Amino acid sequence: MSEHNGQKKNVVVVGGGFAGVGCARKLAGEDAVRVTLIDRNNYHQFQPLLYQVATSQLAPSDIAYSLRKLFRGDENIDVKLAEIASVDPATRTVTAADGQTWTGDALVLAAGSRPNFFRTPGAEEHSFPLYTLDQATRLRSRILGLFEDADRNPDLVARGALNFVVVGAGATGVEVAGALADLIHDTMSVEYRDLAVTAARIHLVDLGHVLLGPFSEGSHEYAAKVLQRKGVRTHLGVAVSAVRQDEVELSDGTTIPTHCVIWGGGIQAGELAGASGLVQGRGGRLEVLPDLSLDGAPGVHAAGDFANIPGPEGVAYPQLGSVALQSGAWAADNVLADFAGKQRKPFHYKDKGIMAMIGRGAAIAEVGPHRHELHGHIAHTAWLGVHASLMTGVRNRVDAFLAWGTDAFSSGRGPQVLDRSDVARIDWEDEETPEPAAV
Ligand SMILES: Cc1cc2nc3c(=O)[nH]c(=O)nc-3n(C[C@H](O)[C@H](O)[C@H](O)COP(=O)(O)OP(=O)(O)OC[C@H]3O[C@@H](n4cnc5c(N)ncnc54)[C@H](O)[C@@H]3O)c2cc1C
Repeated sequence: MSEHNGQKKNVVVVGGGFAGVGCARKLAGEDAVRVTLIDRNNYHQFQPLLYQVATSQLAPSDIAYSLRKLFRGDENIDVKLAEIASVDPATRTVTAADGQTWTGDALVLAAGSRPNFFRTPGAEEHSFPLYTLDQATRLRSRILGLFEDADRNPDLVARGALNFVVVGAGATGVEVAGALADLIHDTMSVEYRDLAVTAARIHLVDLGHVLLGPFSEGSHEYAAKVLQRKGVRTHLGVAVSAVRQDEVELSDGTTIPTHCVIWGGGIQAGELAGASGLVQGRGGRLEVLPDLSLDGAPGVHAAGDFANIPGPEGVAYPQLGSVALQSGAWAADNVLADFAGKQRKPFHYKDKGIMAMIGRGAAIAEVGPHRHELHGHIAHTAWLGVHASLMTGVRNRVDAFLAWGTDAFSSGRGPQVLDRSDVARIDWEDEETPEPAAV
């Protein structure tokens, strides 16, 4: 409990992702503090599993959780649905798009990330990023819609109807490519028969020369082997130079006819960072001090993907759910320290490692700060453990998660329901007759 003189302090938290929820959870039950937690959605989304929704392995409701439900037992937490459009650090006031304002004695900014298209022509307009639940269900609709279209008219295959291009060979790109391959080989091959096996192609493109850059050499090789086995074609050392309605163009001049480009090519801070007047660094993220406060803005803190958090040897911590959850909770402790007139502490990250699931039957985990390398089933178990602990930071449905995780490793079931058929439908008549396929 924080010390107080009878007057409650207000804390405004923007963002109900891992960082915002981690912060609010830590402040729950502090009877001297009132928290207003603001998000543009009324739910928390479990981002690490968005690709499972996009590839029909999980239903959207499996990875989204009502913020009000999450805090319904916490009297001092008030959830508000609002899109925050600007921040005034001097008065610690945030203003919503409709003009409503909230002022706190402390402000914690945790508005997360959005895709970075690096000014690639057509990428924002024609590709499918994977950072929100809405984007995941749009992508799922496009994938399922393409199979339906090609099933009705197999001539569309020559127009790239079943070519899927994944941009970015980091964890997001590799995970989605692996899951898409599973969807095609395990599920679509049963439901669409030969069409899926003979016609569907997955291309993974990255400017770098390895898959899963931040992982070890052994993991790069393992990921390459697994994806090759699953039939994914990798194009390394080439950039995507343009995305069009019906193709992507690569920097080596080749084109791939496609109507489904999945963007995992990079992230930057949410747009609110640019509307805060605060100093932005790499990826547009707010430059925080080691204690997560902002220099020259007393009472303002930032956490998670929204901030460049200085780590050991001056290297910022990566944009990870575990960093976000821990930094959000840490910001809460420092807010309480401020209120109590105590010294704030520099953020210390408990590193559990990095991991990725490359589809069914294959996972990579580099566990702990010394990066002990695991592959296959044992890595999958580690992956489940870390994600379950990430989930307990947010909610208590771990049993269901573990049951799914164990099942997902061995089965091909999932909700292949085209429930948003209108959002990602292609008007094939509207497109010009294509040139012969270049790749
Ligand atoms: C596809 C994918 C896979 C990933 N896999 C892993 C993984 O396996 N392991 C791992 O550790 N990490 C993973 N990550 C990274 C991890 O998900 C992020 O680091 C983490 O979600 C960051 O948490 P956050 O709270 O900072 O931001 P977010 O989770 O992005 O939350 C930000 C919140 O702010 C809200 N918001 C944004 N702007 C506004 C605004 N203007 N007004 C109101 N609300 C706003 C958003 O709606 C959102 O709820 C993955 C990320 C992606 C995209």
